[in-house]
Amino acid sequence: NERTLVLVKPDGVGKGLVGEVISRIEKKGLSLAALELRSVSRSVAEEHYAEHQGKPFYEDLLEFITSGPVVAAIVEGPRAVAAFRQIAGGTDPVDKAAPGTLRGDYGLEVQYNLVHGSDSAESAEREIKLWFPEH
Ligand code: ATP
Repeated sequence: NERTLVLVKPDGVGKGLVGEVISRIEKKGLSLAALELRSVSRSVAEEHYAEHQGKPFYEDLLEFITSGPVVAAIVEGPRAVAAFRQIAGGTDPVDKAAPGTLRGDYGLEVQYNLVHGSDSAESAEREIKLWFPEH
């Protein structure tokens, strides 16, 4: 079994999509190993998005991710990383995410793309350590 870190970002929480995200995770056959509504500190945001430091959207991204509560989850199952990225859809909700995915169905702008899912098993373990040190 593999683990992945999933976030429902502040836009997804604000749009009332927490249930929808969890529902799609469960219907796919993945399971929840941890689930928490929480606010995001600047330092967790910086560490989470360290790979984007220096990019033109980095400051906006940090401001956005710390702008309101997020739901953080550890999602578990065979090929959990790829399976959740399939559910989420591509990064850009219009150009890249297909209809039927969370971003394709509910997103409009790349910054406000509703969810995060780890991009590899290694990133997942790093991110789980950051968001859920007790796990
Ligand atoms: P995530 O890591 O959130 O799952 P991702 O792996 O699909 O997203 P990344 O390329 O890692 O995408 O970008 C991280 C996040 O930064 C994106 O989800 C998006 O919110 C934001 N982002 C990426 N590109 C842009 C951009 N050009 N303008 C504004 N925000 C962006």
